[in-house]
Amino acid sequence: MVNLIDAHCHLNDERIFAEIPEALELGISGFISSALCKEEYDWHIQNDIPEMKWCAGIHPYYEKSKESDLERIIQLCEEKKIVGIGEIGLDGRNDNEDWQTKILLQQLDIARNFDLPVVFHTVRKYNELYKILKNNFPKVKGYLHGFNASKDIVEIFTKFDLAFSLGCKPPKDDCVNHIIKRGFFLFETDAPYQKPHDSKDEYNHLKNLLLNVENISAVSGINVAKLTEFQYKSYVSLFQLN
Ligand SMILES: [Zn+2]
Repeated sequence: MVNLIDAHCHLNDERIFAEIPEALELGISGFISSALCKEEYDWHIQNDIPEMKWCAGIHPYYEKSKESDLERIIQLCEEKKIVGIGEIGLDGRNDNEDWQTKILLQQLDIARNFDLPVVFHTVRKYNELYKILKNNFPKVKGYLHGFNASKDIVEIFTKFDLAFSLGCKPPKDDCVNHIIKRGFFLFETDAPYQKPHDSKDEYNHLKNLLLNVENISAVSGINVAKLTEFQYKSYVSLFQLN
């Protein structure tokens, strides 16, 4: 399998970092790692892994993410250290939507100013996110990471230049098929998070990206090679690599 990219993972977790050689051996050729706070930004600067690109953002739920990290994110953009802003978004598990919205708008503004894609983290608040984008950033580009909502939600978000990134907990089959048919999608593990439902492991692994693609292949009836080709096209266009 060539050019299979893990579009969302956290390589700064030392357990996941240790899995990189195995993942490369298995044919995973690149990673988009997500840094959620200052110490994670520093880790990513210090660990220059050839197969890794990374994003930085203030997460709506992660407790180490601080509003004061905003200046640092702008600096990372200016220094061209990051390839995207994220993961950012709205998370319905916390009752602080005003703060989440404020910080999201500020970061969407940074992404627009530096012409960078956005990696969205959304728990439950898809409709709210849709309204924010429609009213303020209709030209946003990027992807909805770990997408697991409904076909209706897919439908409204296809109005934007956004891809859907499918993780180890994918949405229902009809929704998966809708996403695959549209052709603008990525695959991810979000390792060490979001392990498959039936997994007895303590955390998710990079190698599960292959399982993920095989599952989507079984659901969609499209072979792994074709799926890999499409996700790579999506990746190249999102990150303007051609
Ligand atoms: Zn994540």
